[in-house]
Amino acid sequence: MDANEFRRQAYLMVDWMADYLETIENLPVKSQVEPHEIYNQLPSSPPESSESMETIFEDFKNIILPGITHWQSPNFFAYFPANNSYPSILGEMLTAALGSQCMIWETSPAAAELEEVTMNWLKEMTGLPSHWEGVIQDSASSATLAAILSARERASEFNINEQGFTSKEKFRIYCSTETHSSIDKAVKIAGLGRTNLKKIGVDKNFAMNPEALEQVIVQDMANGFNPMCVIATLGTTSSTAIDPVEKIAAICNKYNIWLHIDGAYAGTALILPEFRWMIKGIEKADSFVFNPHKWMFTNFDCSAYFVKDKEPLLRTFEILPEYLRTTTRGKVNDYRDWGVQLGRRFRALKLWFVIRNFGVEGLQEKIRLHIELANHFAKLVENHPEFEVLAPHPFSVVCFRYIPEGLNDPERINALNEMLLKSINKTGKAYITHTRLGGKYTLRMVIGQTNVTMQHVDAAWEMICDTAKGINI
Ligand SMILES: *Cc1c(COP(=O)(O)O)cnc(C)c1O
Repeated sequence: MDANEFRRQAYLMVDWMADYLETIENLPVKSQVEPHEIYNQLPSSPPESSESMETIFEDFKNIILPGITHWQSPNFFAYFPANNSYPSILGEMLTAALGSQCMIWETSPAAAELEEVTMNWLKEMTGLPSHWEGVIQDSASSATLAAILSARERASEFNINEQGFTSKEKFRIYCSTETHSSIDKAVKIAGLGRTNLKKIGVDKNFAMNPEALEQVIVQDMANGFNPMCVIATLGTTSSTAIDPVEKIAAICNKYNIWLHIDGAYAGTALILPEFRWMIKGIEKADSFVFNPHKWMFTNFDCSAYFVKDKEPLLRTFEILPEYLRTTTRGKVNDYRDWGVQLGRRFRALKLWFVIRNFGVEGLQEKIRLHIELANHFAKLVENHPEFEVLAPHPFSVVCFRYIPEGLNDPERINALNEMLLKSINKTGKAYITHTRLGGKYTLRMVIGQTNVTMQHVDAAWEMICDTAKGINI
């Protein structure tokens, strides 16, 4: 392909992209393909000779697209959003064209400095302490792994990096029973042992019980364990519960424990001043992560990780082989030392585009709208005699279920809701997913796609009610 052909194809594809996003509502939200259906349509060996972009693009439309679940459909109400927006897509296109590899400042000075600036902007936008420092990670899972490894190194005086584990550490890590599975994964990877991750009970709103946390810590210390890290969550994945950060931070300070705050989805709500109460006491914490790639209209991947003190992070990850030595070291941020990855994408560009093109007010407006739509949906559920809301809904997620009159058996209610979920997603008109809260099979309505409006929410609700009526108990 030469530049002229690239130009021609790129114009065609941009037109396709705009059409796709404009008419996305006509497509079934959740891909309806069966396992292996896509695989079986693809040749088992690569082509020997060049194929035209026309042929390739036709296959993209005919084979790949039916196997796509449309995350950017305003009828996508599943999981947490991974939303994008026009400015973000444009940023990603330029990133692809530049093809920069941003491992150190020297390999892309503008990427490093734009990353520093956009992280400072996010810090100001979310009300984080001004002396904290931020870095873009690929995912919240990686950020949390960085936090747990930093905590491990600080607690072992950086000895595990050097000598490996001895039998003496006996570290313990704490989170609530509602915490995201990425904490379990990070504890496994960090070599701490999953049995040393203690899950603390929650209150009726599914938030961590700080008194129970302190009790377990004290008990562990009496038994010779070394409490090393606590993970608090703003917006748990099942029900968006908010752990009491201020109380947990006080406990962590009292026992000299690293406090990491996971706000992967709900951290975006901090852009609204009315949510800042959630991080009261954060100056006592050590690290915080949230994902602009979830609810801030920025293409996956873009996860913002902030630390109070960058020294433990850098000491944990630093490496300096001869081939990466530079004369600017120490004067600039070499982000390869700020996490697991050496090679890094230029992720700050799309974030910069998003923040500038929306403006802080534009972002606030969208997030507020999503929260209002969730409140509206919750009212519809509450006002229906055969549905109920199952958890508080501080953000844009409503947990609910169907209980038809006269049905009392908990297992049958669970089975019925599982059937209802399947039927809803089969319609292709909306996509929602589930969780379990206190043993109850729970439907989660997540309202966070960039272009979702009241009409989409109302239409989804009508469809849910109709589908429920059609289900045989
Ligand atoms: C989604 C989520 C994560 C994981 O995010 P990734 O960026 O996909 O790793 C972690 N914690 C919480 C609370 C989440 O909701």
